[in-house]
Amino acid sequence: MFIDTHCHLNNEYRGGINSVVGRARRKNVGAIVTSTAEPGDLDDVLSIARGHKNIFATVGFHPDCAGINPAEYLTPEILNDDKVIGVGEIGLDYHEKKDNRDAQIKLFTEQLEIARQYDLPVVVHARDAEEDTKEFLTDKNHGVLHCYTGSWDLAKVLLDRGFYFSASGILTFKRADEMRHVFAKLPMDRIVVETDAPFCAPVPFRGQTCESFMVKKTAKMLAEIRGISFEEIEPILYENTLKLFPKMHIVEVVKCLNGNQRKRLRAARDERAREEAGILKEQWAIEKLLNKPADKK
Ligand SMILES: [Zn+2]
Repeated sequence: MFIDTHCHLNNEYRGGINSVVGRARRKNVGAIVTSTAEPGDLDDVLSIARGHKNIFATVGFHPDCAGINPAEYLTPEILNDDKVIGVGEIGLDYHEKKDNRDAQIKLFTEQLEIARQYDLPVVVHARDAEEDTKEFLTDKNHGVLHCYTGSWDLAKVLLDRGFYFSASGILTFKRADEMRHVFAKLPMDRIVVETDAPFCAPVPFRGQTCESFMVKKTAKMLAEIRGISFEEIEPILYENTLKLFPKMHIVEVVKCLNGNQRKRLRAARDERAREEAGILKEQWAIEKLLNKPADKK
């Protein structure tokens, strides 16, 4: 099963959210993380996550919102919500606007502090702001550089601080050689994939509204540049995602399994039998869930 680790579901999609989820599930993209960018997104994003078992939310505000007080919106009730698994997207973006650098840094560092208080991973947007990202994103936080298109130099520093790196559909673009070089060099256990939908649809969907099922095209490109098979990369990305987002609790993926897989899952009760059956890590998690109530509370 693949997971779209970052997108914006509170947008217009063909047929609405349920269609997006259905198309994703049919393509074996069984879980989605949807993210806020501004305070006005909060209600929709939270209700989407609460209304679907395998949709999770990250909450935080993009540098475009510089000037607001994040604590006014990110209440303890929201941050402790079972479906809120991270703080994001937050970050620094000097591409469009640099004259509000101080306000951007203030918003960014205040949200980093909130993430530390609640021990949540951060989902970081960094564009044309490498020096300041290096300075303010320290090992006191953990999380992911989302839609990473930055330099190898910045990646090296943030790797040492324990961060993950997320590849979006840009990885499939013709002119993304530099990004492909970075993702060819990163340790495989620090990479996840995302769509950043509705933006950045991967090849061959460019020009269309991006949505979660397309994340597999990015995973396929990643497998290619890593010289491993598509089958091999699937459980690696899955495991990385669960490590990155410890609060993520996948349920109902059992629907993605075919009859044989389900049979094997039930048959393989002990650890050795599971290994012999070659059952993927995700199916272990499912079995655990089959044996306990789906709702964590
Ligand atoms: Zn985004």
